[in-house]
Amino acid sequence: MAIPISQYNTDVKNSWCMGCGNYAIHIAMKKALSELDIVPNQTFISFDIGCNGNGADKIKVNAFKGLHGRSIPLAIGSHLANRRMTVIATIGDGGCLHEGLNHLIHAIRSNYDITILIHNNQNFALTTGQATATTKEGKRMYALPDGRPEREINIGELVLGSKPSFFARGYSGDPLQLTEIIKEGIKHKGCSVIEILQVCTTYNKESTPQWFTERIEKLESPALDLNNARDAVSMDEKIKTGIIYKNDSIPTFYDRLQNRKDLSTELVDEVKQYDISKLLKKFK
Ligand code: SF4
Repeated sequence: MAIPISQYNTDVKNSWCMGCGNYAIHIAMKKALSELDIVPNQTFISFDIGCNGNGADKIKVNAFKGLHGRSIPLAIGSHLANRRMTVIATIGDGGCLHEGLNHLIHAIRSNYDITILIHNNQNFALTTGQATATTKEGKRMYALPDGRPEREINIGELVLGSKPSFFARGYSGDPLQLTEIIKEGIKHKGCSVIEILQVCTTYNKESTPQWFTERIEKLESPALDLNNARDAVSMDEKIKTGIIYKNDSIPTFYDRLQNRKDLSTELVDEVKQYDISKLLKKFK
């Protein structure tokens, strides 16, 4: 029997705006953990600064809210220390594609066995709607009254360019599909990157639920290869959601790590206490 979702709840009240996509994403994350029977104390979720990060105290797991854009290295550290934990990094498009962009690329390249949820609402919402790398070119934003001058980044193209082992795209307006995607991401052995198109009712008035509904098309099955996957991530006309690319043959970081090959312990089991009082005396 699955663990009841209520087991992941805390007493902290939600503070997101009315209609915010974070509600559905948060529920989908809890539902995925519940349906996979993953107990709260064996789950580590890292959050960074941003509206999504305000979910950190609303889920009863080992949650860590870190610096802006640094959610992914926190998740990697947890995974490297203890592979018994289910590890998820949640991060916004701002933190992920600005301060944290290097972390995303290296997590994919190393294929750590973690799941990364990128909440893409196309703006820095917590700081009142500044442009991020996914804000559409020409769009007028706070501090950019004449419109955004640069081209936007398509997260799918960026991720596929790094040859991932798993890339999916979900939508906050379809929490049931999103739950299934997150479950597949957690089950996948390797770095699962999931872009979540998120409604931001306060600072993204263009990408409304109606706008998404007119464009979203669900993929029946993942693309056969990276080239086909690249076609699927284009957002020019239709926006494809679902598991876009999956490659189970790429070894994980630990699979390649020769010096841990025959060990049955995790790094966390090997931590020892050392008496350094004599050493400290030398500095007095
Ligand atoms: Fe959600 Fe946008 Fe409000 Fe932030 S500002 S809580 S992302 S609706």
